[in-house]
Amino acid sequence: MTLPDRCFESEVIIAGAGPVGLTLAHELGSRDVDCVVVEPRRHADLASPRCKQINPKSMEAYRKLGVARAIRDNAGLPFGWSDAAVFCTSLTGHTIERFDGVFALSDVQRDDLAEPALWCAQNRLEETLRNTVTGRPTVSTWWGWSLVGVEQDETGVTAVVAGADGEQRRVRGAYLVGADGSHSQVRRAAGIRLAGRSHEVRNVQVIFTAPGLSEAHPQGRAVQYWVLNAEVNGLMGMLDTEGTWWAIIIDAPADLDERSARDAIRTMIGESHPIQLRSMDPWQARMLVADRYRHGRCFLAGDAAHQNPPWGGFGANTGIGDAVDLGWKIAAALHGWAGPGLLDSYEHERRPIALRAIAEAEHNMQVLTGELARPELADDGETGAGARLRSAEAIRETKTAELYTLGFVLGSGYPDSPLVGSANPAPLDPALLNPSTYRPSGAPGARLPHRWLNRQRSLYDVLGPGFTLLEIAAAPASEWAQAAAKRHIPFDRYRLNRPDWHSHFGGRYVLVRPDRHVAWRGDETPLDVGAVLDKACGAAP
Ligand SMILES: Cc1cc2nc3c(=O)[nH]c(=O)nc-3n(C[C@H](O)[C@H](O)[C@H](O)COP(=O)(O)OP(=O)(O)OC[C@H]3O[C@@H](n4cnc5c(N)ncnc54)[C@H](O)[C@@H]3O)c2cc1C
Repeated sequence: MTLPDRCFESEVIIAGAGPVGLTLAHELGSRDVDCVVVEPRRHADLASPRCKQINPKSMEAYRKLGVARAIRDNAGLPFGWSDAAVFCTSLTGHTIERFDGVFALSDVQRDDLAEPALWCAQNRLEETLRNTVTGRPTVSTWWGWSLVGVEQDETGVTAVVAGADGEQRRVRGAYLVGADGSHSQVRRAAGIRLAGRSHEVRNVQVIFTAPGLSEAHPQGRAVQYWVLNAEVNGLMGMLDTEGTWWAIIIDAPADLDERSARDAIRTMIGESHPIQLRSMDPWQARMLVADRYRHGRCFLAGDAAHQNPPWGGFGANTGIGDAVDLGWKIAAALHGWAGPGLLDSYEHERRPIALRAIAEAEHNMQVLTGELARPELADDGETGAGARLRSAEAIRETKTAELYTLGFVLGSGYPDSPLVGSANPAPLDPALLNPSTYRPSGAPGARLPHRWLNRQRSLYDVLGPGFTLLEIAAAPASEWAQAAAKRHIPFDRYRLNRPDWHSHFGGRYVLVRPDRHVAWRGDETPLDVGAVLDKACGAAP
């Protein structure tokens, strides 16, 4: 590659400002790491916002980054607008089944969550993350630039980026993260392969405006309307309160044009209603994961590293989890307190989560509207009523795991990580594998169980930016702070005078990582506190 003369410097180069690259920029910026974000799109004006469900774990990360409220305020549908999913014969037809409290979208405060989920179109999420990241002094954003080449050596990585007018620049950094989506340039440059398969069915997401439609149907508010119709197979919902809608036509004909898309939407609505198409976005479900997440100084995150079918809403959320995990580890490496194994633990911890997301989403894909639709469901007489009752039973059996996902979202942790250990390991609990039922666990590797300290203050709010030792009605353990200072590990202690919470965490001392996962727990201070910290930072032999 012929390199342009001019060279910019930063600690980290992030290719791609989708939800994942932007979250990583926030994570690094919050830890005073210099980074430059390179993104070809000048604005977050996606023609077709794919992601809509931001799960509680992602929202908790945004709370810690101080942007959760801004994201909520910029969502097209007001916070708490609906937490329902409806199955119907058409938007104006018969209701078959209704689920409330789906995806943990309810705005009623619950003890196990610092933040509920949010229904927010991807472009609005990106818009807020863009607007707020510019307030972080160590983050530079290069809108209108694409990464076109990468070279690395022992001391750093050089990226060549190109502007829309063909101008090229060189950027030198210690690390490069490819958050540049499914066609990742970084992945190709690093020679990393995706393994897995694609689903042959072709789907199309259509964005349209339909003023007045939300008042013209009897199904009530819902974030998803699944349409069980013998002619058209799909689901739909609102993006904002101004009449913008999305619809996914599943198994769409190869020749679907604007006219047939309009007809399909009319069938899904069940009667004529004025609509205006804004975009048509074809997509196929993919079950793919990168064989490696790291090549030297280059890392992959988000869709660049893994892709899953959208059923359950795990794609962007899994990538946001990658950014949270990788962010503190890169910061530790740059600030000099990472052990030699810390950066490698990124793949070790995150790849199994991507594999599980793929498995959950593929399972959800086995039964969609096409498998549930029957012509008699639309019948107005007794035959139809009976068919709808039987269908509701089948829907409950097959779609519950997709609509109630906290068991997977909050229950997934890193029990097999080389970074975690315990004096009180967790017994293997098969219920923890249930995708719908979340059972809080303070076991090493798990997400720290959440508690409210008062109505506004979350336990997560008192955690420091580095490691935090929770002392749960136990003697102060000052030796931790000394051992951490010796290793330059950012460290805080927080005393919880709550003996009644001991069983909740499963130890009197809980060492919490910067990403709110448990590194270690025990009832006594270990003899060698330094060894526990070394392990948590990837410095154990
Ligand atoms: C129909 C549908 C519905 C979905 N719903 C959900 C949902 O509800 N919840 C959920 O979590 N997920 C959902 N997903 C998945 C979600 O959209 C993706 O997982 C998510 O967009 C991945 O984010 P990302 O930042 O990794 O990649 P992307 O969003 O693809 O962003 C990559 C960025 O990199 C930029 N880029 C590309 N090439 C370069 C380059 N050479 N240099 C620099 N930058 C580059 C791109 O312009 C882009 O901005 C859905 C997907 C589909 C298809």
